Amino acid sequence: MNVKPMPEMTEISKPFWQGLKEGEIRIQQCNQCDGWVFFPRRHCSHCLAHDLEWKPVSGKGTLYSFTLTRIPTLPEFADEMPQALAVVELEQGVRINTTLVGLEEDEIKVGMALKPVLDQVDAKGNTLLRFTAADKSLDSLPYMNPLGSLPRNEQGQIQVAVDNPTALQALVSDEFTEWSNSITVDQELINTFAELSGDNYWIHTDPERAAKESPFGTTIAHGSLVQVLQSRLNFALPFEITGFQTMVNYGSDRLRFPAPVPAGSEIQARARVKSVQQSRKGTALTLEVHVHVVGNDRPSVINDLVILYR
Ligand SMILES: [Zn+2]
Repeated sequence: MNVKPMPEMTEISKPFWQGLKEGEIRIQQCNQCDGWVFFPRRHCSHCLAHDLEWKPVSGKGTLYSFTLTRIPTLPEFADEMPQALAVVELEQGVRINTTLVGLEEDEIKVGMALKPVLDQVDAKGNTLLRFTAADKSLDSLPYMNPLGSLPRNEQGQIQVAVDNPTALQALVSDEFTEWSNSITVDQELINTFAELSGDNYWIHTDPERAAKESPFGTTIAHGSLVQVLQSRLNFALPFEITGFQTMVNYGSDRLRFPAPVPAGSEIQARARVKSVQQSRKGTALTLEVHVHVVGNDRPSVINDLVILYR
């Protein structure tokens, strides 16, 4: 993932972004008047008909206008200075706001012939449309995984410095780790927790009554017990954060107990990095931890655990 602000894909603009992902530039054309339309919208900007169709185009065009920004338009673009912000007119006549790449400042001239450069900005294949001179050999900018060049520790985990925001963002993933070890939550453990917490409600501690009256047919573990047992479940994170002074458990953004853990169950856990956010307080890494009864698709605990590094 990129730390720079990215376009939000909407229902209307999705075919454009999806096309770039697939290596194709798609622009809308009106079936009534044949007019070409950009930016993506519902109706034709020439005849107002609600009859637009996405068509692949070459992406060839000319430079309509440009400016070189020497002061970042946002702090996130500081590493791109000067940025060549441009308006490109495609062969079809539509104009696109974009940036020019692979050009020296004195090579940029209004009216010059341009061709598209597909710039892949993250591991998911999300792609931005940039342009360069028609006679350049540049056609695409591949994604450079910021984690690729980082060192690993003895356990093979990638070492990510807390002051490397690009690498930290690259840790965010939809994919969970492998399952952890499993442990058994038996009645003795539940009783110990009941004593410790003072929560000795019969649904947890009275197997005879639970057999007769509980909808689960047996006693179940306290949700908060299963939550804290997370410390005994070692899911292997593929990274290690380095270079911080202190690391604190900052609490939880979300804590849910969607499925019960009947006494005697085996549980296991897995996790993924849900987000990384930087603020004046430090770097907050949110780990989405799921604890499951082994074999149950539905998690027993969902915990968005926030770890704060300073
Ligand atoms: Zn039209």
